[in-house]
Order: sequence, then structure tokens, then C-alpha cells
Amino acid sequence: MEITFLGTSGSIPTTKRNLPGIAIKIDGEILLLDCGEGIQRQFLLSKLSYMRIKNIVISHLHGDHFLGLSGLVQTMSFLGREDPIYIYTPKDSAKELKDYLGIGYYTQGFPINIKGVLNEEIKLEKLKINFARTDHSVPTVACKIEEYSKRGKFNLEKANKLGIKPGPEFSRLERGEKITLNGKEISLEDVVGPNRKGKCVVYSSDTRPCESVIKLASDCDLLIHDSTFSHTLKDRALETFHSTAKDSGDVALEAKAKKLILTHISPRYDGKELLEEAKEVFSSTMLAYDLMKLKI
Ligand SMILES: [Zn+2]
Ligand SMILES: [Zn+2]
Repeated sequence: MEITFLGTSGSIPTTKRNLPGIAIKIDGEILLLDCGEGIQRQFLLSKLSYMRIKNIVISHLHGDHFLGLSGLVQTMSFLGREDPIYIYTPKDSAKELKDYLGIGYYTQGFPINIKGVLNEEIKLEKLKINFARTDHSVPTVACKIEEYSKRGKFNLEKANKLGIKPGPEFSRLERGEKITLNGKEISLEDVVGPNRKGKCVVYSSDTRPCESVIKLASDCDLLIHDSTFSHTLKDRALETFHSTAKDSGDVALEAKAKKLILTHISPRYDGKELLEEAKEVFSSTMLAYDLMKLKI
């Protein structure tokens, strides 16, 4: 799974940071998490194609997280997109989002399916998404994106014992055929190791630190978390239903996440001070910047 940060600012765009957007690419297909204004240009700069977006999660209807959506839909329509798009957003916001996308003189060239979600699991072709409500001032969801477990690797030792050689015989087993050797019927399961767990990323946009996100992020490979403020402004963070960098570190630690990335950075910060603060609590922390890419 390849993760690209298209926008890492909170509330207001800056010269260095666009408004929130994260593209998750699995097998050539893109899942977009939030859609700040000007997302098409961020896609162009990142060398990803927005025409490959199939699913979109809009965490909540604060402008910084969704106002890029109608521009994106209109651009795709101009370019002749016909494939449907599936959008997931908090239950209470689904109708508003639909109304918003209907505004303007343009012809929507492809179907848009909007589904309201709260605490549930959605199974898609290449991944599954679990949603949980966060502690923000308006209905907001965090999401856990998880690859399906993968088949175990070819186990040479097991295969040798059975007399199966890597190459054409293994390919036949991979196609679902069975091979009979010395009177014994052999199938693929006999020559591969145990299934490998798929990778798992949790994204919580705007939230105070909360139990539901800790639970969702339990043992995840990567947690991407709201880090709007430094802890010196903890009162402001509580008041506005956001997190500090220290809060993000605490959440990652409690959830036993393997890695933490700070995002939704307030324009008042460069970001390095937030990184230092979170690292004091949780050492495996990175600071997101626009167009940053990583593979997990
Ligand atoms: Zn926000
Ligand atoms: Zn918000």
C-alpha cells in the first residue's frame, strides 16, 4: 500500500501546506481520505492520477476536509470519466454532501454513490474499512484501512518433502489444480506457509484524543492523527475539539501503533516543534509534509 499526503494543513492553506487529503494506492486503485480545495493540482504534483480514485472518505463536513470535492467531480466530468465513485461520510452528513455536489451548471458524467457511516465495517474489493466516531465538534469519523490477508509464501522445505519443485508444478497448484505424486494428492495449501496479515492504516482527522480512535488503531502499522496544536495550547485544543502533538503520541502509545504520522498542522507552526513534542512520548513519529510518499 502506497500512501501520499496531498495536503497536511489544518483549517487554512499555507504556501507550504495544502488542505487535508491523503491518497492510498493499492493495486493501481486509489482511496482518497478527505478532499481539501485544489486537490486536483496536488494529484498532478504528486504524479498520481485522480481518475484512478474509486472510493473517497470524507471524515466530516468542515470546509477544509470536503470543499475540494465538487471541483474534483467537475474536473473528472470534463475529462469524460464514466466509472462510478463511492463516497463514505458520517451518517448525519450524507444528504448535505449530496446536495452540495448538485450545485453549479455542469453535467455530472458518472454515478456518485454516497453512503452514511458511523461505527461499521465496509468490505471493498481490495480492502476493508472500519469506521469509528471521533470526539470532534461535528459528526466525524476516523477510519481503519486494512488489506485482506495474503496467501502464505512458497515453502521450499515443505515442497521438497512432497517432491514438488518450484516452477511449472507450483504454477499449476497456484491455478487451483491438484497434483498427484506417489499416490498422494497435493494442493496449494500443502506447499505454502501460513497466511500473511495485510497492512493496516488508521486515519483520524479532527478529534480530541479519544478511546474510540485508540481502539480502532490497536496494533495498526501506521496511525495518521490530528496534531493541530502544541501542548502549550492544550486548552485551545480542547475548546476546538482537536489534539496536540503530545496527545497524538499518547494515543499511538496506548494503541500500540507501530508508527505515527502527525498531520492537520496549524498554520501557526512550522511543524518541527510538534514532531519533537510527539517524539518525547512516542519515538516512532514522523511529521507529514505535502507530497510525502511512503510504502507500508
Ligand atoms: Zn480540519
Ligand atoms: Zn473539523
